Amino acid sequence: MSLIVQKFGGSSVATPEKVANVAQIVADTYRAGNSVVVVVSAQGDTTDDLIQKAHEITEKPGKREMDMLLASGEQISIALLAMAIEKMHCPAVSLLGWQAGFNTNSAHGAARIKNIDTSRVRAELDNNNIVIVAGFQGLNKYDDITTLGRGGSDTSAVALAAALGADKCQIFTDVEGVYTADPRKVPNAVKLESITYDEMLELATLGAQVLNNRSVEMAKKYNVELEVLSSYTRKPGTRVLEVADMEKMLIRGVTKDTDVARISIIAVPDIPGIAFKVFSVLASKNINVDIIIQSIGRGDTKDITFTCAKEHVDTAIDAIRKNVGDLADKKIDVDTSCAKVSIVGAGMETHPGVAAKMFEALFDINCNIKMIATSEIKISVLIDADMADKAVSSIHAKFFD
Ligand code: ADP
Ligand code: ASP
Ligand code: MG
Repeated sequence: MSLIVQKFGGSSVATPEKVANVAQIVADTYRAGNSVVVVVSAQGDTTDDLIQKAHEITEKPGKREMDMLLASGEQISIALLAMAIEKMHCPAVSLLGWQAGFNTNSAHGAARIKNIDTSRVRAELDNNNIVIVAGFQGLNKYDDITTLGRGGSDTSAVALAAALGADKCQIFTDVEGVYTADPRKVPNAVKLESITYDEMLELATLGAQVLNNRSVEMAKKYNVELEVLSSYTRKPGTRVLEVADMEKMLIRGVTKDTDVARISIIAVPDIPGIAFKVFSVLASKNINVDIIIQSIGRGDTKDITFTCAKEHVDTAIDAIRKNVGDLADKKIDVDTSCAKVSIVGAGMETHPGVAAKMFEALFDINCNIKMIATSEIKISVLIDADMADKAVSSIHAKFFD
């Protein structure tokens, strides 16, 4: 008998028929003799609709109340799924995040799980119940509801699997696994049998939303056996592991992120300490900076350019102007119509020419590169947003066709 955590995303529970389909998968797993814990997301576009509702009331809803609102989406799905499972004559109990013991910090909207008190979940399992847990939510030390950030149910599932010492964690979604590119955008994308935690973490961070990046980070840390598979086809999916099968693949995937802005601070003094001050200020505001380029000094000035998420642009500029004295009146140039396109794969470390091949694919479609960043397992380029889909297809064709 195994203990299995199964997570179902919003699209998998969007309609009554889909809830019944999920109930069938869960009931089959339970009847095969396993203990089953299920983590579910809000149905379909519920979370987006709730955000919309908040903005119909006020432009700047408070973060605490926003979490109170958004957490309600998952409450609906757990109750409906428990009912559907009971209709199939299997015992099920639904639990909100706090009932399942999710304790988080107080960063509303982007809370981090501090620990999970699994006593209630274990007691329900001991009573032979299928336990259905609301993903995406927890409770802070003031007993206020928190949420983990968009796509956070993946993290709830992996964290619960780690805390329970589950035998495996299955992430069911609307595609059959992790592909070499988004299969909805690139029709000849190939499903991977396996991928390493490190590669998956890069892909997820660089835009492949099939798994939330924090869930991958957590799976690696706690060595959780993770599989991404379809709610609809009952075929084997993609396993995420420490060491993946050698598939002779130079790269594992191509991905894009359009939530990127480029900020350039023009003609800053060419003296020591400027970069230190700029990036310390950004770090103090919790702004994640990605690609950084500093130009060669000309005369006694240089330019500093970096990318960050679009939502952080105003805060970043404000913080730099207010806190870095030398830059209070410097010209700051912002470009929000850009996209980051990346290739990921552990194979590239030992193969020269991967970057050249990627750049050739961009040249083939006459796409100009604004910035480049590399690491051992990824290469990212910043390009015009309206070229992003074409760029992904061209790069994918170059490596996989
Ligand atoms: P869920 O609602 O189940 O959490 P998501 O919408 O968050 O599902 O993630 C699944 C989607 O991720 C797929 O429908 C697919 O379009 C997208 N996706 C992006 N990149 C990839 C990739 N490399 N492999 C598989 N799916 C991907
Ligand atoms: N319902 C939340 C969202 O839409 C969490 C999730 O789906 O993982 O982001
Ligand atoms: Mg998701």
